[in-house]
This record gives sequence, C-alpha cells and structure tokens, in this order.
Amino acid sequence: MDYQARRAKLRERLAKEGLDGFLVVNLEGSDSANLRYLTGFTGSAGGLIVTREDAVFATDSRYTERAAQEVPDLPVEKLPPRWLDWLAERLEALSLRRVGIGAARTSLWLFNKLREKLTGVELVPVEGWVEGLRRVKDPEEVERIAAAARLTDEGLRWILGRLRPGMTEREVALELEMWYRKNGADQVAFDLIVAFGAATSMPHYLPGERKLEEGDLILLDIGAKVDGYCADLTRVVVLGRPSPEARAIYELVLAANRAGLEAVRAGVTGVEADRAARAVIEQAGHGDKFGHGLGHGVGLEVHEAPRLAPTSEDTLEAGMVVTVEPGVYLPGKLGVRIEDLVVVRPDGCEILSSFPKEELLVL
Ligand code: ZN
Ligand code: ZN
Repeated sequence: MDYQARRAKLRERLAKEGLDGFLVVNLEGSDSANLRYLTGFTGSAGGLIVTREDAVFATDSRYTERAAQEVPDLPVEKLPPRWLDWLAERLEALSLRRVGIGAARTSLWLFNKLREKLTGVELVPVEGWVEGLRRVKDPEEVERIAAAARLTDEGLRWILGRLRPGMTEREVALELEMWYRKNGADQVAFDLIVAFGAATSMPHYLPGERKLEEGDLILLDIGAKVDGYCADLTRVVVLGRPSPEARAIYELVLAANRAGLEAVRAGVTGVEADRAARAVIEQAGHGDKFGHGLGHGVGLEVHEAPRLAPTSEDTLEAGMVVTVEPGVYLPGKLGVRIEDLVVVRPDGCEILSSFPKEELLVL
C-alpha cells in the first residue's frame, strides 16, 4: 500500500483549505480505520500528525514494536502516559496554528480535552477528509476485498453442508466464524447474522437459540475480514420444501438484485442505483417492505462511503466497492435479502460474490 501517496493527498487538502496540519487520534480503536489507511498501523491506540511537509506517528509502549514493522516509512515515536502534554508540545514545536481533525470519529469528550490542552492551536473539525480518500479503492485494496469475498463464499459452502435440523442459529454463526478464523481470516467483518424461519424478517437480526426446522428459510448475512479488508454477502436458502410465498418473494428480490447490479456503473448516483432495484419491488406492491437502502461501500470497514439509498448524496466512481442488497421483509413470516459485493467499473460492475443465487437453494 502506498501510504505516502495517501498522506500526500491529505496534504493537498490542507493547502487548499488553508490548514497547517491534520490530526488523527485513535483512542481504544476510535479511529483505527483512518489511522490504518494513512499509516498501515493496526493497533488500537496511537495517532498521526500530518503537516504540510511531514508526518509524525506515535503510539504507546504496548504497540511500539508492532508499529516498527507495520509503519516502515515513518519514525515511530513513543507516547508517554501524559500523551496530551506530549501532543501540545509537539504541535507547538511544529508551529501548527490551524489543525484539522475528523469530526466523525472524534468524541465530544476528546474534542473538548484537546481544545483545553492545545492552547494556541485552532482545532478545526472537518468532515470526511480521510473517509473521502477511502471511497475509491487502490487495485491492491480491491485484491484484498476479493480475497475476503472468496473466503466468505467458501465458508458459506462449508456451513451449508453441515446444517441439520435442531442446530441453533448461534451454533451455526459460531461454527462459521471459527471456520473463517481457521482458514485465514483476521476475524469476521461484523457479527454474523444467521436467522431461521420467521426470524428472517428482521434485517439486522441477532442469532439466538432458535432451532432449525424442516421447511425453514435460512438467511445468512456473513463476511470474513482478510488483511484488514471486509467482505459482505447475504444468501437465503431453505431446508426442505419452501412455501409458494417464499418462492415468490425470492424471485422478486432476485429480480431487484439483478436490476440493481444492472444499474451500477461509474457516473450513476446512489439514488439512481437504489431506484432501479426499488422500482422492481414497488411494482410488485412490496415497496413498504424494503426499509433499508440498496447498498453501502465496503473496505477497511464493512459500512463506509458511498451509500446507495433514496437519501444518498453520492455518485459512483470507478474503483469503488459497494454492496447491492435489496430485501423484502414480511414481519412475523419471512424475509429475503440477496446481497452481492461488486467493484464499480466505467461501464458496469464486476461481481466479487460468486455464490450461486439463480434459484432458491433447497438443502
Ligand atoms: Zn451484509
Ligand atoms: Zn451489507
């Protein structure tokens, strides 16, 4: 990864906006993704000062040895326990007067602390500077996401071969998570969602003690994280014979998923892509049963910019990685969501999810 090039882009922004520096403070993982993006560091505490010409990276004694390996292109400075004093001195020594800080990942508590301590420095909250750089992926990032998607697909194949009546949702989620970790994932990209039967109608369900029964729909919304990058995939299958209603809803969501994939290409807005899929569901009279947006960006975090939704302000660009995941949820009855991970290309999209979806898979 070319961390210097990323920091150089941040510097262009500093010059444009008339700031002397940009500050990333990662406290207990509060800003891990942005710090990792700019330096390669994976620890949960540390920080970065980017100035017009230079950059200063620091972490505490728990992480200095790891940082020396992960951050080869910057000296690693060791933070003392009174790190706020250290920061105040460092900013003063660098003669920084106007310093930007990302608003989304800085708590009000931290912001107030920094303001109190950093006298003589104007701290300017800015929005989406690093997140904005993260929207379009480098080829190397796309490779890592594709690797995470492949592992996610493989894990799904493995777990589907093990499903038996009587297994609980929690067992299935846990076994799949173990499989991912044993087979090369850093961890899972998010808490895996496994829902049986009527529980499939809750889009962000928490797997529970429900036991798998004959005739149940099974919704799996799953993702492995590989080398820091996430995958996100949803498939719905059925144990035994599906009801005619389940079949019909599956066909409808599949048609919406295809319409969404058809629409995704550089230059299309997040609203337009969402509309293409949503129109299919609305025409079938189920518009009010599709409550969430069509998709989201995926990268170091499983939910990041851009958004594909009726309220999105984003326009798709080549190299973005997004999900296409329409769903229809009938409360108390059933839900179907079909989610693919794709790379936006100039004239279409490249689908990274390879697990079959052409028909409702019967186990
Ligand atoms: Zn998902
Ligand atoms: Zn998703």
